[in-house]
Amino acid sequence: MFLSLLSLIGTADAETGPARDSISPRSENASSAGLHNPFGRTPPGQCSKEVLRNGVQLPPMSELYRIWNGNKAWGTPEMVQAVVTASEEMAWLMPSANPLIIGDISTRYGGYLHGHKSHRAGVDADIGIFTVGGHQPQGGGFEYVTPKTMDYEANWMFWSSLLETGLVDRILLDQKLIDAMRDHLIDSGELSYQEAQEIFPPRGTPRMWALTGIFQHAPGHANHIHLRVLCGEDQLGW
Ligand SMILES: [Zn+2]
Repeated sequence: MFLSLLSLIGTADAETGPARDSISPRSENASSAGLHNPFGRTPPGQCSKEVLRNGVQLPPMSELYRIWNGNKAWGTPEMVQAVVTASEEMAWLMPSANPLIIGDISTRYGGYLHGHKSHRAGVDADIGIFTVGGHQPQGGGFEYVTPKTMDYEANWMFWSSLLETGLVDRILLDQKLIDAMRDHLIDSGELSYQEAQEIFPPRGTPRMWALTGIFQHAPGHANHIHLRVLCGEDQLGW
């Protein structure tokens, strides 16, 4: 899976460059071995949907991403690990792309966050979508994206890097953007039909809630992705 991305990383590994040391070593199964993890893990039994007990503030890394509000950029260790790792890969593999826009995650101790149903426990993050040319929104909000304005290469580079951390529960996105990306990846040969079905399960797939590492439709998500990460060693199978 993700052969072109892996071959790109192979190229990057063969060279020396300023970002070289910040790239985590890859392994066949990044979720069980080899993923450098400076942020720790949520202790078993401490996962919650309502509060954040083991919060880590997303570190400021202006070359990788722009954080809207640091007071609302607290997540579980798994969340911070996923965002930092995938952003580092993005900056290394596509340095011409804009730094990512990181919207709300959670407040330091979690709980209700104004304007959101979730975002209470550090496992949800709103992140900008790349538009053509590797652009992220430059104003104070997210920008509405269509299949015509979406940057397929840049978004897939970032999204597949997120998936490869093994930390993703699901990525919520508007169905028409999901469909457009899935079709693009199949047409370009990036994914086989079977791989695409696994990552982008059709609407109505039974027990969708039990699947992980997938894209799923959510209304109102045509201007950002909503990343939900897995939590805790038990759920991650470590
Ligand atoms: Zn959200």
